[in-house]
Amino acid sequence: MSAVGASQGPATIGEEAATPYAVLPDPATLFLTRSKRLRALAPGHTLEPYLSFVADVAEAQHAAQADLPPAELPAAEAIRRALEQDTPPLARDTFEPGEAGVIAMRRFLEGLRQTVVPADAAAAIQSLHAASSEELSQLLAAALKDAPAENIAMRVLALAGLQIHLSRLAANLTAADLKRVAGGACPACGSPPMTGSVVGWPSAHNSRYCACALCGTMWNVVRIKCAFCSSTEGVGYHAIEGGPDTVKAETCDKCGRYLKVLYQVKDHMLDPLADDVATLGLDLLLAKEGWKRGGQNPFLLGY
Ligand SMILES: [Zn+2]
Ligand SMILES: [Zn+2]
Repeated sequence: MSAVGASQGPATIGEEAATPYAVLPDPATLFLTRSKRLRALAPGHTLEPYLSFVADVAEAQHAAQADLPPAELPAAEAIRRALEQDTPPLARDTFEPGEAGVIAMRRFLEGLRQTVVPADAAAAIQSLHAASSEELSQLLAAALKDAPAENIAMRVLALAGLQIHLSRLAANLTAADLKRVAGGACPACGSPPMTGSVVGWPSAHNSRYCACALCGTMWNVVRIKCAFCSSTEGVGYHAIEGGPDTVKAETCDKCGRYLKVLYQVKDHMLDPLADDVATLGLDLLLAKEGWKRGGQNPFLLGY
């Protein structure tokens, strides 16, 4: 990962550093770290088959990202215009995946076809593999715009392919390309946060960083404040009784939503996406109590 908005990255040790506003993704480690965490979480878990499937996906994403042509950002002029309009440089609702997005998707699908996956996923992989580039491009664009999808498995795979493309693009952004955007959204692509992590980085010890499910960027949001509506009143914390104290849900009385908080400062193995999926039990508990999930995770569509 690389830090922006500060002179020191999170990996810098021993020197005084300002808290970075945002940390850009490193696609070379993002999917690999995630797949390892999923493999570690899966054995004996009530969601073991699903966690193993998401690990297969992450491994295919890792293999695909290593073998793609350089990712090209929009023109500097377009990024400058976006910033003037308080829009993220890779705003997902207007972003065109283009040929590069389709190539990333095809590489990812080729890798996944070598893996044994559940029947509905296998059928979706086959359909996507057989699709024309024009069809794939449309499907990717629809997934970015959250247009209604007939086939959930295809939507999940499209978003996984887009994670590869968007993380490679976001990795090429710089501090000058990012500023805080409305509604607590990702400053690189405008997605809602997936989860928040209280990190143990030397440059930001005990600070919270929201993670983007789409592009992998992390950005600083002060603690005990709703990540969606910015309310600092009526913020509460919920956890599964008897469960680990490293993942909690931060609820907001004002907007009725919640975001999971991962205490990486207590357990550095926690992964923003993997541990979100693995703590689905917490979502089910909160849904029963009437809370609405605010975090967006392609592997928890429908929750
Ligand atoms: Zn993003
Ligand atoms: Zn709120």
